[in-house]
Amino acid sequence: METPDIGLAPFEPGWVWLVGAGPGDPGLLSLYALHALQNADVVVYDALVDSRILDLARVGAEMIDSGKRGGRPSPHQRDISEHLVRLARKNQRVLRLKGGDPFVFGRGGEEALALVEAGIPFRLVPGITAGIGGLAYAGIPATHRTINTAITFVTGHTACGDIPEEDIDWTALAKASPVIVFYMALKTMSRIAERLITAGRNDDEPVAIISRATTPDQTVLVTTLAECAHSEEPSNQPSPALFVVGPVVKLRDGLDWLGAISGKTLNPDPLSDDQDNKGSK
Ligand code: SAH
Repeated sequence: METPDIGLAPFEPGWVWLVGAGPGDPGLLSLYALHALQNADVVVYDALVDSRILDLARVGAEMIDSGKRGGRPSPHQRDISEHLVRLARKNQRVLRLKGGDPFVFGRGGEEALALVEAGIPFRLVPGITAGIGGLAYAGIPATHRTINTAITFVTGHTACGDIPEEDIDWTALAKASPVIVFYMALKTMSRIAERLITAGRNDDEPVAIISRATTPDQTVLVTTLAECAHSEEPSNQPSPALFVVGPVVKLRDGLDWLGAISGKTLNPDPLSDDQDNKGSK
């Protein structure tokens, strides 16, 4: 597969391209991402990058797994950054490939700053973040005119693996954002649901847990905040997963286009039984 000749910037030796690979489906790659895969001398990829995307790399490219998924032994961030610098200094075309978007909970900023410090030229190629692409594949619009004028992306755990107590003003979040998308929240989901209810969100507010979004293994579990707060079950969903809170989740009844492809009947009026489709009490 050739990238079309549309004047894409050339991938020069000695450069690092920090590229977002999107949430999984290779069809969601940008042309720049494909161009980088076809021209890289070395690909340093993280654990979330789908293997079908890695298969698109130039034959002969060196493939380096920098996997840093929670819980498994993983290289330190500083080691990865130093490795990128060393490879670029060897005049390689270095593709740093990350799941989703490099600047969304992806430490892309840290790696890019290390390149700046070392004087290595780099390009940043955004990717479709899971919180956008995953919702679309679940048939859940990130915004819907009659429901929300804002959406918030939140990390469900801190660097030390716990719920971000100090970093998040839960009352303000619950009040200000009708739709909240939590990343990295599989283990903390029930406590997050509790916090949101305590902070004023409705018990019966719909939530979705979208696992392995945009891959052939995608699953979507729709439930309520109260169910999540009281059951351990949701966190048994496969990882990686997004936890989506807010009335937009209801639209899945009408917009689960993937489900429709496999025969599900869609409801053209999914909000019809809604008296008050704003998120908070
Ligand atoms: N930079 C990435 C996020 C990395 S943090 C991005 O922009 O998407 C890792 C978290 O992203 C996971 O814990 C999960 O919450 C989410 N995530 C990434 N890929 C996902 C996928 N295919 N399905 C569901 N969640 C995903």
